[in-house]
Amino acid sequence: MALSEFDLIAEYFSNTGSPREDVVLGVGDDCALLQVPTGMQLAVSIDTLVEGVHFLPGCDPEDLGHKALAVNLSDLAAMGAAPAWATLALTLPATDPAWLSAFSRGFGKLAEQHGVRLVGGDTTRGGLSLTVQVHGFVEPDSALRRDGAVVGDLVGVTGALGDAGLALLSLRGEAAAANCPPALYTRLQRPTPRLAEGSALGGVASAAIDISDGLLADLGHVCARSRVGADLDLARLPLSQSVSHYVQQTGRWELPLAAGDDYELCVTVPPDRRLLAETRVRQAGGLLTWIGEIAVQPGVRCRLPDGERLVAETGGYEHFG
Ligand code: ADP
Ligand code: MG
Repeated sequence: MALSEFDLIAEYFSNTGSPREDVVLGVGDDCALLQVPTGMQLAVSIDTLVEGVHFLPGCDPEDLGHKALAVNLSDLAAMGAAPAWATLALTLPATDPAWLSAFSRGFGKLAEQHGVRLVGGDTTRGGLSLTVQVHGFVEPDSALRRDGAVVGDLVGVTGALGDAGLALLSLRGEAAAANCPPALYTRLQRPTPRLAEGSALGGVASAAIDISDGLLADLGHVCARSRVGADLDLARLPLSQSVSHYVQQTGRWELPLAAGDDYELCVTVPPDRRLLAETRVRQAGGLLTWIGEIAVQPGVRCRLPDGERLVAETGGYEHFG
């Protein structure tokens, strides 16, 4: 290796993200020392991206740095937590300075946008794999959990569904996904964690999840944990023009329902808080669309725009399925 492990860490990972006063000791010692604000709960989440499974070989390293952090921040958003710190376990086949510098730039820029500091990690040689752990703060009892949905609650989603999925189909050369606009590639390669929306819905939504595996699978998790079901109205799904066009052309509702990589939030909200939720999300600069209701019967059912019931072919991506 051209660079020693210690040079590499010092060069690319010792000053990444925003400096924070609650970091007593950051990168460089055996452990980081971190101060959780008095009275707050610590929200912790970890996610791994593996080459060939979560991203294509040859993927732009700056995109990868962004995405590795973004998918984790999305989990904090789904809890209504405010992000603070991250750690990074990096497994690399070789130390390529251009790759490392671009990766650390992508990671660092997104970290700075959200006031996050990289406080430690681990660096090893092997097949390319990136594991990020994030830490955030949430007021006791105000976290948005998966188990709080109640029959009669409205189901809402932020942003739009299926954009990243369409970009991926286009990259794979599917004809119906040709002419995919550049903005949709950005949705795949640099997803925006919906932190402002998550925080706006803290104490308002009854349950929340971020959509990483597709709406059906992830709303399914909320329903299972809450011991309820859901009825969705597909005519109400928020879709970009391109995704809407794709669905009209192909009839493939799996794209917005199950392609995954959306990183939008799916929330349930009691009907009497509907306006409050809408206002809060709008004030946070986001978009919230109501797409269905929580029901007694377990499972997630979809009504097509013509009133027919959709029998979904796939429930999202499963690694061991
Ligand atoms: P140890 O052998 O004690 O685990 P390491 O040599 O793995 O220590 O790491 C030295 C320091 O560098 C530690 O503070 C660790 O958190 C940090 N570190 C290692 N790899 C990374 C990385 N990829 N990103 C950020 N910090 C890292
Ligand atoms: Mg170590």
